[in-house]
Amino acid sequence: MQTLSGSSRPDQTGADTTETGRTFAGVGVSPGRIIGSILLMPQAVSEPVAGERLAERTSSDEASAALRAAAKAVQVDLGHRAVGASGAGREVLEATALMANDPMLIKAAVKLITNGVSAERAIWEAAASVAEMLHNLGGYMAERATDVLDVRRRIVAELRGVPAPGIPYSDTPFILVGEDLAPADTATLDPAKVLALVTSSGGPQSHTAIIARALGLPAVVAAVGVDGLSDGTQVFVDGAAGTILVDPGADEVALAQAWEKTAAALATFDGTGRLKDGHLVPLLSNVGGAKDAVAAAAAGAQGVGLLRTEFCFLERDTEPSLAEQVEAYRGVFDAFPGKKVVVRTLDAGADKPLPFLTDASEANPALGVRGYRTDFTSPGVLERQLEAIAQAADGTEAQVWVMAPMISTAEEAEHFAGLCTVAGLTTPGVMVEVPSAALTAASILEHVDFVSLGTNDLTQYAMAADRQLGPLAALNTPWQPAVLQLIRLTVAGSRDEGHDKPVGVCGEAAADPALAVVLVGLGVSTLSMTARALSAVGAVLASVTLPEAQQLAALALTAHSATDARRLVREKLSVLDDLGP
Ligand code: PEP
Ligand code: MG
Repeated sequence: MQTLSGSSRPDQTGADTTETGRTFAGVGVSPGRIIGSILLMPQAVSEPVAGERLAERTSSDEASAALRAAAKAVQVDLGHRAVGASGAGREVLEATALMANDPMLIKAAVKLITNGVSAERAIWEAAASVAEMLHNLGGYMAERATDVLDVRRRIVAELRGVPAPGIPYSDTPFILVGEDLAPADTATLDPAKVLALVTSSGGPQSHTAIIARALGLPAVVAAVGVDGLSDGTQVFVDGAAGTILVDPGADEVALAQAWEKTAAALATFDGTGRLKDGHLVPLLSNVGGAKDAVAAAAAGAQGVGLLRTEFCFLERDTEPSLAEQVEAYRGVFDAFPGKKVVVRTLDAGADKPLPFLTDASEANPALGVRGYRTDFTSPGVLERQLEAIAQAADGTEAQVWVMAPMISTAEEAEHFAGLCTVAGLTTPGVMVEVPSAALTAASILEHVDFVSLGTNDLTQYAMAADRQLGPLAALNTPWQPAVLQLIRLTVAGSRDEGHDKPVGVCGEAAADPALAVVLVGLGVSTLSMTARALSAVGAVLASVTLPEAQQLAALALTAHSATDARRLVREKLSVLDDLGP
């Protein structure tokens, strides 16, 4: 995407940060118009080099004192933040603040410093040992392992004199600007404080986009140069148009006020997805754990179409125990008694590394050992997860379905179905996110009971365009006619050989109200999305009949480009005018 200029010249660095009216153009991924001042996301803290020694002129006493001072400063900062927080967030911050100055942690680090190790490396290694020990203790103590790993990054940042990692802290709401967000950042993102998300990188299916839609925050990705702005700059973000304007005026104030009314009008979904002619299209929700599930149930979701189990264990460097897994999954099942909950087995790899499953040094992680494929290199983890899902399902009222991510062949589907049978799970399915799976859907469905289209990855693999890369954002849209053809073929495969098995969509395509109509027209039976999108998708589906949806699907399939497909369909859906992208 280009950096455009209002009153100033275009530049790629955003170095001139003061000119009023300067506009950045990116890709709008979550609608909404808002004005606020920005805070920049600090760079991630890199691991101090293994074997790093004390600098020549630094004594171990000086380094130990610096470490103690840094640990104290982190404790004070976290304590201050805890005072401003409430509920669970406050408890987490208080616990983390205590951990920052934990005598056992500091003592272990000082011992290493005494042996000549640099302060940064010493705290890094000491925290790793403490985290492992806590983890081995299990239960409540095991949960504290993540806090230790968080505080070590903060202490290293303090020692280096750079901003603390993660979402910046502020007493007042702000617009978060950065290069991209990692899934782990979501845990500390407070939607009451963050008004909008803007990134210079990332595509429409990147995790920043997914997070923004889940939180209902206006968001723009791939806005080159925007991370060159300074903290405190006032901007207007238009998540529908994909633009950011520096120093907005009266027109933008009016637009932001009008959006508040639209957002309020879109806040409800009546709990039944249906077309104008009564054709039912259950609308389910994508969740990352029990908290999301409770919110999704409250928003009227008719079940869960995608439980991203890896989100329950991000940042863990060891495999979660059976008991931890059972607890995490049961929390989701309990939110949906009598309803369908589709559990996806761990989708580790690429942008969601899990240290106990994936190899960070892979040259092409998106084409590497990820999703179901981790069973090739870490046998046993998948079986234990299926056992945990079965145990969690036992005694709950949810209808538990289970599916594997990144399936490429019918043989893999058969193997996965076999593992499910052994675990006692009766409804196995697979995700269709690799083009080979779309093309062989009929054979795959000889072995499993359903498929769910992961259009985020299906798009990245069909278009050979990394979903994280801003410059490829225009390729990376499920409106691409090639992607729609793969969806059509998957549906055709599901109806082959006399079987008629359900085909859902759980990629971000389902949350785009116009594309949702196309998907239904292509024969998709359920749509799963962030809870925030339920009302908009429900409202647009209710405005068309099935034959109309089929006509719109035909229009999109035969369009010359993704842009044409989207434009042609949207032109026919006047109800969409206010909903944005
Ligand atoms: C997808 O690829 O569409 C999907 C739903 O999985 P994820 O976004 O978690 O990779
Ligand atoms: Mg995927």
